[in-house]
Amino acid sequence: MHDIVIIGAGPAGLTAAIYALRANKSVLVLEKESFGGQITYSPKVENYPGFNEISGGELGEKLVEQALNLGAEIELDTVVSVKNPGSYKIVQCEHGQYQAKSVIIASGSRHRQLGLAREDEFTGNGVSYCALCDGAFYKDRAIAVIGGGNTALQDAVLMADQCSKVTIIQNLAFCTGEKKLIEILKGKKNVEFIFNTVVEELEGEEQLSSIMLRDLEHDKAYRFKVDGIFVAIGQQPDNKPFETLCKLDEQGFIIADESTVTSTPGVYAAGDCRTKKVRQVVTAAGDGAVAAMNACRFVESIEK
Ligand SMILES: Cc1cc2nc3c(=O)[nH]c(=O)nc-3n(C[C@H](O)[C@H](O)[C@H](O)COP(=O)(O)OP(=O)(O)OC[C@H]3O[C@@H](n4cnc5c(N)ncnc54)[C@H](O)[C@@H]3O)c2cc1C
Repeated sequence: MHDIVIIGAGPAGLTAAIYALRANKSVLVLEKESFGGQITYSPKVENYPGFNEISGGELGEKLVEQALNLGAEIELDTVVSVKNPGSYKIVQCEHGQYQAKSVIIASGSRHRQLGLAREDEFTGNGVSYCALCDGAFYKDRAIAVIGGGNTALQDAVLMADQCSKVTIIQNLAFCTGEKKLIEILKGKKNVEFIFNTVVEELEGEEQLSSIMLRDLEHDKAYRFKVDGIFVAIGQQPDNKPFETLCKLDEQGFIIADESTVTSTPGVYAAGDCRTKKVRQVVTAAGDGAVAAMNACRFVESIEK
């Protein structure tokens, strides 16, 4: 029986481990894929406080090292379900089963990809999924934002202040985001909209230099030169293993606010996996600290 089982070894899960271990709790972290979480895919992080610049891989390694030095147990296994029979939780993995007094879910989310050839190869080299993370690398360059919802429009507003040109490429005949954002963008001289159009190919040597577009209305393909694209077509959480444990919203995010409290006592949700507006390393780490303190209090309350 562990005091706290943490699901996911990203910034939220590892920060939760650091806080819980410093409060003398026994902690097991379960990770299915990549110690350090999705930030390990980022070649350069410039907005995590305390580091002018650090690679995502190094930041992930430092988090893992800190948790291990404090005594965390970390296992590579995929959690398939969590049950709450009463005074403790049962965490079922592909290769084992664990018991815990409290569980912190820090399973993250993924940016939806375009599903094109060479997309992974160009990620960090002209293809980005986060304007807040990578926008500064495209100062005075020409970029395209793919998508027409609120995230895409907000990304375009942010990028229009620093890029020479911003083109919003939307597969529909209209944008689905807020009218106010559309008005702001229409008022900017360096912003243009291309509707009824999809990206079909990503081109370039090591760095993306152009994209092949298809005008769906006229069924015409053409090459479009860009220094970078920001893909903003939604986020995909992977919270299926927890759908009977706690309430999810219609997109599959665990319903929890800054308190990280879920609909199930003793179960907390931290980081990108929960309902929230800003999905970043620093907000994930903040959630991890809050979730750990809540879990520690819960464990102490059931021991009394
Ligand atoms: C390319 C890229 C660049 C980015 N750049 C920046 C940046 O510059 N600055 C910034 O602040 N943010 C950046 N981000 C966003 C940042 O990485 C995330 O906001 C942050 O990692 C969220 O942390 P998390 O711990 O909530 O989730 P994650 O980092 O997603 O970690 C969740 C972990 O849980 C594991 N997991 C999921 N389900 C299970 C399961 N069933 N069983 C076991 N393990 C499971 C996953 O494998 C994953 O390792 C970037 C993201 C990407 C992809």
